[in-house]
Amino acid sequence: MSLPENEVLDALRDAGAILSGHFQLTSGRHSDTYVQCARVLEDPALTTRLAAAMAEQVAGRGVDVVAAPAVGGVIIGFAVAQALGVRFIFSEREHGVMTFRRGFGVTPGERVLVVEDVVTTGGSVAEVIGLVRAAGAETVAVTSIIDRGGDKAFDVELLPLLQLEVESMEPHECRLCSAEIPIDSPGSRRLA
Ligand code: ZN
Repeated sequence: MSLPENEVLDALRDAGAILSGHFQLTSGRHSDTYVQCARVLEDPALTTRLAAAMAEQVAGRGVDVVAAPAVGGVIIGFAVAQALGVRFIFSEREHGVMTFRRGFGVTPGERVLVVEDVVTTGGSVAEVIGLVRAAGAETVAVTSIIDRGGDKAFDVELLPLLQLEVESMEPHECRLCSAEIPIDSPGSRRLA
């Protein structure tokens, strides 16, 4: 069930989760690539396939429970837990603070896999790892569909299905603007 990175990339492009064009990112910078990972979830069969590959990456690590930060990690995290045959919980923010609510939690000694859809700096992932540690449990690995590259806010091994470092440019030095390619604003359309 392992999935080569090029197959993951093709599948994400086919699903509309990775777009090529000329985009203004929320940072204001311009890019030729836009990632909207939630589009994967429109295709449950694809989601299940990706989750199986993520589960395979942590086979043998003795995972007891999958924990995912809401909202991005919830569905893929559930699917990974299903593939591993283990419990699933998610964390969410309450007054800005990441927490396990709804009776969710981990117990001391449990081995936790943290699952996210896209990891950039991994701020939410780091907060989940903090919750796990505070409960006396251990995060054995982090897995994601995409690693956007760059420095991470956590010190646990990250096992992404796809490494995707997206180039971004200041508008005044954007080669796509120079080529007079019309800009797409993903947030304003169905991609929001
Ligand atoms: Zn541009």
